[in-house]
Amino acid sequence: MEKTKKHGNARFAAFIKKNLYLILMIVCVIAIATMVAVTYATRQHSTDAAVDAGLNLPSEEPTESLEPQANAEPSEQTSAAEPEEVIFSLPAEGEVVGVFSNDTLVYNATLNQWSTHEAYDVAAEVGTEVKAVYDGTVKSVTTSVLRGTEVVIEHKDGLTSVYSLLDSDVAVKVDQKVKKGDVIGKIAESGTFEKHKGPHLHFELLNASGDKIDPVQYFESTNK
Ligand SMILES: [Zn+2]
Repeated sequence: MEKTKKHGNARFAAFIKKNLYLILMIVCVIAIATMVAVTYATRQHSTDAAVDAGLNLPSEEPTESLEPQANAEPSEQTSAAEPEEVIFSLPAEGEVVGVFSNDTLVYNATLNQWSTHEAYDVAAEVGTEVKAVYDGTVKSVTTSVLRGTEVVIEHKDGLTSVYSLLDSDVAVKVDQKVKKGDVIGKIAESGTFEKHKGPHLHFELLNASGDKIDPVQYFESTNK
């Protein structure tokens, strides 16, 4: 036993002696690694402390200055005054007997001629109420042989609605303000220039340029 231990110690001493430089190197590496680790940990701590203290570190500046702008712009655009969509109510309840067509000729039996029909016709019993399709101001009330009594109402966005073939007993005056759905007149007995369609309202819509356009695009989808 004693001999074996001695022998073992001797071998250990010989091993140390032989590998002294290697062992020293390992100790040095461990020492350097520890120093690096400690230095890193200290630096990390001081960075955290600086952030806690509210200091702006260079690496954080770009994100801080860019983010609020990127967030603010889209929300400003969506909150900007959104134009109210113009949706018409129907000018009269009844059967649609004529639709808008500016590229197709339609035969007019009353006038015995082919022409475009840039209007929307609603046939209904004589005396059926005719209503303003949208808020506006009465621009004119006229009577002619061809178009019967006609009321013209100006709306926003340069839109103008025209209600033709009305009874001469109209419910509005020039410059009168009307609301969507207000009664402005009644369907007349005679359809004058469209007599072949029977009593009906001949409704036209003009845009800001004065061009006749299809009013159906402004009616609520359920009315189309
Ligand atoms: Zn018509």
